[in-house]
Amino acid sequence: MSAVETIHVNGAWQPAASGAQREVLDPADAKTLALVAEGGVADTDAAVAAARRSFDEGTWPRTTVAERAALLRRVADLLQRDREAIALTESRDTGKTLEEGRVDVDDVTNAFRYFADLVMNESGGRVVDAGSPDVHSVVVYEPVGVCAMITPWNYPLLQASWKIAPALAAGNTFVIKPSEVTPLSTVHLMKLLVEAGLPAGVGNVVTGSGDPVGARLAEHPDVDLVSFTGGLASGTKVMEAAAASVKKVALELGGKNPNVVFADACATEEGFDTAVDQALNAAFIHSGQVCSAGARLIIEDSVRDRFVAELARRAERIKLGRGTEPGVECGPLVSAAQLAKTERYVAAALAEGASLRCGGSRPEPSQIRPATGYFYSPTVLDHCHGEMSVVREETFGPILTVETFHTEDEAVALANDTEYGLAGAVWTTDAGRARRVAGRLRHGTVWINDYHPYLPQAEWGGFGKSGIGRELGPSGLNEYREPKHIYQNLAPRPVRWFGG
Ligand code: NAD
Repeated sequence: MSAVETIHVNGAWQPAASGAQREVLDPADAKTLALVAEGGVADTDAAVAAARRSFDEGTWPRTTVAERAALLRRVADLLQRDREAIALTESRDTGKTLEEGRVDVDDVTNAFRYFADLVMNESGGRVVDAGSPDVHSVVVYEPVGVCAMITPWNYPLLQASWKIAPALAAGNTFVIKPSEVTPLSTVHLMKLLVEAGLPAGVGNVVTGSGDPVGARLAEHPDVDLVSFTGGLASGTKVMEAAAASVKKVALELGGKNPNVVFADACATEEGFDTAVDQALNAAFIHSGQVCSAGARLIIEDSVRDRFVAELARRAERIKLGRGTEPGVECGPLVSAAQLAKTERYVAAALAEGASLRCGGSRPEPSQIRPATGYFYSPTVLDHCHGEMSVVREETFGPILTVETFHTEDEAVALANDTEYGLAGAVWTTDAGRARRVAGRLRHGTVWINDYHPYLPQAEWGGFGKSGIGRELGPSGLNEYREPKHIYQNLAPRPVRWFGG
C-alpha cells in the first residue's frame, strides 16, 4: 500500500478518486507525519455501495455467530501482535504518550474479546408467552444493515473499535470515516480486519473531512444507521442530515464533567493525596482532550484552599513533551486549532474574573522540546462560576476550573448544572452520601472515589446533550441490531371477524 492509498473499498486499498491528498501533522513538532487520501463524495458513494452489496447479497450477515466471534478474537490477537506499532502510531498521530497508546490497544483488544463472548453466550432469541399453546412467539435480533461510523481525533483506535466490534458481531457491514486529523490507526485496524479474514466489502474506510465525507454518510439513503462520536455541533448536523432518510442515529458527544470532592475525602493525608492525584489525572491526562475529562473541580469550601494550592503545585510539575519521549507525562494538543481554542477560553475566563493558579500560557520555547509543537501548560483557574464560558462549554484543553460548595445539595446542583451529562465523580468516605450523590447525578457514568475507568461490559454514553444511545455493554451491541417479533400460529383457523 503506498502512502496515499488509505481508502478501502470492497477489499481494495486505493487513493481518492480525485487524487487529492492530505498531510497529517505530528502535533509534537507540527511537521508532516504522513500523507493520506482525501476522499470525497464519489469515494463515499463507492464505499456505501460496497457495504450495501455485501449486506444484501454477501455472506457476512448470514455467517454463524461462532464464525463472527472467531473473527473478532483473531482481530484481538492481531492487535496484541502489533501492540507496539499501533501504540506508536497513535502516539505520533494524536500526541498522547506512548504508554497511553499501549493502554488504548489493550482496552480495544478487550472490547473485541468482550463482544465475541457476548454474542456467543446469547440465546437465539426471546420466547414470548402469547397466551395460547397454539402460538409460538419469539423475538430475534437481526443486524441493522449498512452502518456508517464517524469518529473523532482524540481516541481514534478506541472509538473505531467500540463501533466496529459490536457492528461486526451483530452481522452488519460498515463504512468508517476516521477524523481527518488522526486517521492512521483506523487504517491499521482495517488492515488487521482484512488479515483476520473479513470478506471484501464488509468493512470499508474513507479517509477525508467531515464535509463532504461524514456529511454524505449521514445523509446517504443506503445507510441504515449512523454512529457518530465527536462534538455537539457536528453531531447536531449529523442528526439533521440523517432525518431525511429516517436512519437510526447513535451519538456520543461531549461532556463538561464534574469531579465533586467532599472534605471528608481529604481528612487523612493519604485521602488528600489520592484525591489531588486523581483530580490531576481527571483533568490533564491527554492534555484534557478527553470527552470525560474531569474539567470542573467542585470542592467543599473548607478544604478548597489547601486542595487547590497542592493541585496547582503538582500541575506545574507535569512534564510536557513529545509523547514518545521517556519520562514525558503529557503530550501536546492535537492541532493549532485546539491550541488557539484553549488560549481563547483561558483569556475569556480571566476577563470574566477567574484567578489563575498555574499555567495560563504556552510553555517557554526554551523549556519544551520540540519547541514547534502545540503545547499548552496545565492550567488551574480558581474562583469560577456557572456563568463563565470556561465552565459551561467543553474546552477540550488542559484547563481545570474550580467551584466551591457548602452543602451536599449545592454540590449536586452544581454538578448537574450543565447541558451535557457524560460522566462525573464523587469523592467521600461517607458510603451513604456516596450512593445518594451518585444516584442524583444526571450523568451516564458516575465514579465513586475514582476517575476515568470504564469496562467493556458496562454501557458508556451520556444524558442530555452528551448524546443518544450507548456504546459498550449489551446496549452497545443492541445499537447495531433490530429486534424482530416472529409470531407463528401453529393451528391456523378463520377468525370470522367478518360475517361473509
Ligand atoms: P468533531 O465533531 O469536530 O469531529 C468528529 C468527526 O466528525 C470527525 O471525523 C469529523 O471529520 C466529522 N465531522 C465534522 N463535521 C461533520 C459533518 N457536518 N457531518 C459529518 N461528520 C462531520 O469532533 P472532534 O474535534 O474530532 O472530537 C472531539 C469531540 O469528540 C469532543 O466534543 C469530545 O467530547 C467528543 N468525544 C466524545 C466521546 C464520547 O464517548 N462521548 C469520545 C471521544 C470524543
